[in-house]
Amino acid sequence: MTTVQLQTQDDSPDLPLYVSAPKVYPQRVHGVYRRIKWALLIVTLGIYYLLPFVRWNRGPNEPSQAVLVDLAHRKFYFFFIEIWPQEVYYLTGLLILAAMTLFLMNALAGRVWCGYLCPQTIWTDLFLATERLIEGDRRERMLKDAGPWTLARVREKTLKHFTWLMIAWWTGGAWVNYFADAPTLVHDLATFQAPVVSYVWIGILTFTTYVLAGFMREQVCLYMCPWPRIQAALTDEYALNVMYRLDRGEPRTSFKKSLALRAKGEHPGDCIDCSQCVAVCPTGVDIRQGANLGCIQCGLCIDACDSIMEKIGRPPRLIAYDTDVNVARRVAGKANIFKPIRSRTVLYGTIIALVGAVMLLALANRTNLSVSAMHDRNPMFVKTADGSIRNALTLHIVNRKPMARRFAIEAAGFDPAHVEAVGATKGADGWPVVEVGPDQIRELRMLVTVPGATHPPPKQDLAFTVVDVASGEKAMTTDNFIAP
Ligand code: SF4
Ligand code: SF4
Repeated sequence: MTTVQLQTQDDSPDLPLYVSAPKVYPQRVHGVYRRIKWALLIVTLGIYYLLPFVRWNRGPNEPSQAVLVDLAHRKFYFFFIEIWPQEVYYLTGLLILAAMTLFLMNALAGRVWCGYLCPQTIWTDLFLATERLIEGDRRERMLKDAGPWTLARVREKTLKHFTWLMIAWWTGGAWVNYFADAPTLVHDLATFQAPVVSYVWIGILTFTTYVLAGFMREQVCLYMCPWPRIQAALTDEYALNVMYRLDRGEPRTSFKKSLALRAKGEHPGDCIDCSQCVAVCPTGVDIRQGANLGCIQCGLCIDACDSIMEKIGRPPRLIAYDTDVNVARRVAGKANIFKPIRSRTVLYGTIIALVGAVMLLALANRTNLSVSAMHDRNPMFVKTADGSIRNALTLHIVNRKPMARRFAIEAAGFDPAHVEAVGATKGADGWPVVEVGPDQIRELRMLVTVPGATHPPPKQDLAFTVVDVASGEKAMTTDNFIAP
């Protein structure tokens, strides 16, 4: 008889549920991509820190800050563009443009955003440069961290964390400058007269920058950011990505062995397994293992490998921006092909062009006056004691000029005597006239009454035209007059 032994216990070795990620010690590297990254870091951080101090003359009663989020008046200023709360569609357009640009960049050159422009990458780079300056390069830092605590080490660590905190504090300070007149706010902050909320936001951003760029670094890209997963689903085999050209690098062997093999007329791969590409990687990835979600496509391993190739007298770009298609083609003995124009790049490019054109057109045709109406819902109409039917609506008149203006409100097809605006005077022709302050929105209660004897239809068109008394500029909105 055969006995079946049931396995009641897990025989696998006891593994911890959570293993800390090993600390990454990226090494200093020189080369083309490092230089590009430094240039972008200086440009982007320069823009971020200095932009709030750029002035833009918009005339009297208007803020003179080029980029300003004016929360108090619910307006956003961007150089010559001024966006009001009613124009939130511009924001939608900008979000679509940003998403499509990111998709297009991804379709052309992989995670180029992650490697060069993402704030997490830029601040991590800055924090790493500070760390290297104070504690030394990779090997030195590793030795120090593995060694005992000495007075010199305590001094270095204190200086490093102090510098990090200063950068983080400056970062938070720059952020709040986008929400108020920057020079005034800086003065108020320094003299402790600024609103408490400014100090709170500086504190929050100091903390998040210090933690994310100083401690979490690649963990943010690996575990917190959704973009690697999204982009992995959006990319294809024609997109340029940082790749180890295995068709050229394999079989890898040590430098000495490769020399010996070449002397015998054999063809070893160009990779000498020096691991310099891994040592410089800010996320600790070995690019030779193929596509990896941890790779932010920063190109630093290209620089590292190029310097090794130069030293051993082999051609550069063993690691390079390349495509999966070309690696496969070379392995099959075929020539490279590049296809930047594909259905997805054309689609993203077309959407960018269309949305951009619509936004530009809307901006070009933007007026200084607009009006909208909101009909009372409950009740839709009222029957007065004399049998008349009255409808109530609220008009929102937006005056985008930096001076007060007077507007006459005309209702098409209705007798001026039957159109009333609460708090308004009547003009010579009988229509209500109101004043709207500079750069303001006026909310106006409108009452339209039709004598019951005229038997109005259950629903008829109602159009309000707001006319600038001085200039004749007009804006119109439509609604319905409701009767029983
Ligand atoms: S740096 Fe170049 S040669 Fe060195 S291990 Fe990486 S791929 Fe190979
Ligand atoms: S593998 Fe190369 S490109 Fe990818 S993150 Fe590391 S250094 Fe940058």
